[in-house]
Amino acid sequence: MKFCSVCGNEVVFGDLEHEHLPRFHCPNCKTIHYENPKIIVGCLPIWEDKVMLCRRAIEPQHGLWNIPGGFMENNESVEQGAAREMWEETFGRVTIVGLHTVFNVLPVNQVHLHFLAELQDLTYQITPESSEIVLFNEEDVPWAEIAFASSAFALKKYFEDRKLGKRRTHTGSLIREDQKWTIIDGLNL
Ligand SMILES: [Zn+2]
Repeated sequence: MKFCSVCGNEVVFGDLEHEHLPRFHCPNCKTIHYENPKIIVGCLPIWEDKVMLCRRAIEPQHGLWNIPGGFMENNESVEQGAAREMWEETFGRVTIVGLHTVFNVLPVNQVHLHFLAELQDLTYQITPESSEIVLFNEEDVPWAEIAFASSAFALKKYFEDRKLGKRRTHTGSLIREDQKWTIIDGLNL
């Protein structure tokens, strides 16, 4: 951030009274410009005993497989956002079953919420965002080609739950430690 979005003055990054972290702030109009994590919302679409994956037609991770998801918009609920992303990426309609995973991506300041979602029918089709859409059996999931850690985490937890005959909500985190990305498995909620 370089300029104040309120008055256009150049901003300063540094300590302030009553703030526990340094912040961008405007010396002219005194606005503090907070920077907080972004929320990503998505679906783990289910049809019978299969899960839906989409091959990404856009960057980042072009060509890899993902479950539908994207940035939450203002003025929508997380469930609405998840269903909207599903529509944008697959033209598919879902019934949201419940919150499946909460995944913190600390290196990029994001929180990913994935909902278990049942496909309403099989009218999905490829879109500008997805070059291929496939319903996979567990044994056919292309684990080595999954685009994002949060998607792999959601898929892994879904198959674990299914074996146990349970539906749970899981938390996890991706952290960067010693130049290495590590997934931390959180507690079941
Ligand atoms: Zn200002």
